[in-house]
Amino acid sequence: MLLSVVVPCYNEEENVPAFYEEFLKNTPFFESEGLEFEIIYVDDGSKDATAGQVRRLHERDSRVHLISFSRNFGKEAGIYAGFQKAKGDYVVMMDADLQDPPSLLPEMFSWLKKGYDSVATRRVTRKGEPPIRSFFARMFYKLMNRISKTEIVDGARDYRLMTRQVVDGILAMCEYNRFTKGIFGWVGYETKWLEYENVERAHGKTKFNFWKLFLYSLDGITAFSTVPLAISSVMGVLFCLCAFIAIIVLIIKNLIYHDPVAGWPSLVCIVLLVSGVQLFCVGILGQYLAKTYLEVKHRPIYLVKEEL
Ligand code: UDP
Ligand code: MG
Repeated sequence: MLLSVVVPCYNEEENVPAFYEEFLKNTPFFESEGLEFEIIYVDDGSKDATAGQVRRLHERDSRVHLISFSRNFGKEAGIYAGFQKAKGDYVVMMDADLQDPPSLLPEMFSWLKKGYDSVATRRVTRKGEPPIRSFFARMFYKLMNRISKTEIVDGARDYRLMTRQVVDGILAMCEYNRFTKGIFGWVGYETKWLEYENVERAHGKTKFNFWKLFLYSLDGITAFSTVPLAISSVMGVLFCLCAFIAIIVLIIKNLIYHDPVAGWPSLVCIVLLVSGVQLFCVGILGQYLAKTYLEVKHRPIYLVKEEL
């Protein structure tokens, strides 16, 4: 049996060897289980010596592989590339920064043996994270689960062990806008959730700032829900209704009480409000159209510069 480990890396020169060392600590377990492994580092257009570090490891150990992108395509593209290259009967994806502890693998395997198709992890605490970020993250998961049929678990990490069947399911989803958390939920299969305490990054800084995460969450919403479109339609109907009622009230006031409503301030407010709502709805529509545009272009998800 072969286990493929997919590790997306963006500027992780210090973490590449550290991850390798840490991963090898599982060797006794792998031997007892009769498991071979391959580590696929996906260098996502790093500007530091990440690719060089992987090359050095590859020379020492042929089980280490490298896919190097022509530029930074994002973590989602890295995961997809790694999955395409993975030959394993089982595939696990892990961050390079050791926030996904390899020591959890034996436990994860034990659940696969019990018949689960995939073992996922979620962190129970958001320790070491700015409170504002935690707040928005929680809001996002709440909102997402309201408006999307696909289940997206709060605090879920991308650390997951899967059988070949699940991986093939994910590979069949060849969309350009990849929101992995949603894709996992979409493919389904029996998933066991393991919980663990948040671990701090081994070296370097996080690659996701607040703004990047915010945009990513918008991607997630447009990729896995069309409820915003429905909301904008409902808003249109509501505003028409309001206008209709207002017209009737005005007519009655004028005809019966001879009290014409005067004043342009009220008019200006209404015009501003309605045009604001219109722009907002057109914006929502635009988001979906933009995503559709990107999809229909059928651009490759990533381009490879070097492969080992
Ligand atoms: N990563 C990547 N491409 C990117 C950004 C990040 O491959 O454009 C990788 C990164 O090297 C790391 C993983 O994705 O292995 C998770 O990133 P990070 O630790 O910065 O995210 P966080 O754990 O803070 O959410
Ligand atoms: Mg990290």
